[in-house]
Amino acid sequence: MIIHLKNETSKEKANELGVQSQSIVLHQNNAYVLITPSSLKEVPDYLQSYTEQSFYMDSDMQLSSKKYMPTTRNIQLGDALIGGSTKNTVMITGPCSVESEEQITACAELCIELGVKVLRAGCYKPRTSPYSFQGMGLEGLQLLARMREKYGLAVITEVRDATHIDEVIEYTDIIQVGAKAMYDQGILRKCGAIQKPVLIKRGFGTTLQEFVQASEFVLSGGNPNVVLCERGIRTFETKTRFTLDLCGVAYLKEYTNLPIILDPSHAMGYAYGIADLTRACTAMGIDGLLIETHPNPKVAKSDAAQQLNFEEFRNLYRSLEPVAKAVGHQIV
Ligand code: PEP
Ligand code: MN
Repeated sequence: MIIHLKNETSKEKANELGVQSQSIVLHQNNAYVLITPSSLKEVPDYLQSYTEQSFYMDSDMQLSSKKYMPTTRNIQLGDALIGGSTKNTVMITGPCSVESEEQITACAELCIELGVKVLRAGCYKPRTSPYSFQGMGLEGLQLLARMREKYGLAVITEVRDATHIDEVIEYTDIIQVGAKAMYDQGILRKCGAIQKPVLIKRGFGTTLQEFVQASEFVLSGGNPNVVLCERGIRTFETKTRFTLDLCGVAYLKEYTNLPIILDPSHAMGYAYGIADLTRACTAMGIDGLLIETHPNPKVAKSDAAQQLNFEEFRNLYRSLEPVAKAVGHQIV
């Protein structure tokens, strides 16, 4: 249950009531809010006189629920506004990993050429093998920051674990919490303590409830700027890398107030399917897209098979506007 306390309730009182009701206390719009476990069905007597408004929730999908906030949140991703009433489908692109200044500059220039506002590339890669390329680390973050300064792009990169989260927060505009990291509560809690937008990817074995609950760690920590990203789940099928769960996306659109980004690149795992999938995603009227591009995918140090070369990306990008338009959206 979410309980908005009356404006005049002091911090001390809110904290005391929080302990009593086993709630998280959130300061929001100049007032205190208690988020109790969802098992609570009614406002207890001792809270009645402090309560301004209450929202009963039937699961721990609370702050992210449309029952609490009926319209999708608006979140600023650099110059691009996502969610809310915008009808924007925000394109985010870039290589899987920052590999060199030359490579990331080429990707940034592709963004400028097409009008894409958000550049994405990994610096701390969550590889399945310790023998694979692990990312450029801090040097990569510095290169991304240089791209922001030089081209005015917003940059997003992923945090692999809690050891380098402060660096990622310092250098980037948007924090990506990857499919493997989304259960790391150290990361989620740190993301809750800042105001920069956080993009959380769904783990490949994560239920929708668990996915949304990961976002609740950030929201209940005080950061309202959370975006969800579906990137494919593991099914019995092995011909494609993962299975893009569009049913899950329909569920998230219906029941949550968080903007939703789709990542066909990691779901498909192969460049050949990405354009069709991206158009299918766009036709769902979603809030954003995340597509991997590389100046020369054949030599990419991670996710080589799925990255689009620039010509493939240009062709795909140009084909999206009419699809977006057909569902009342525009590509931003
Ligand atoms: C990535 O975005 O490059 C990545 C590793 O994604 P995921 O966390 O979805 O596997
Ligand atoms: Mn990748």
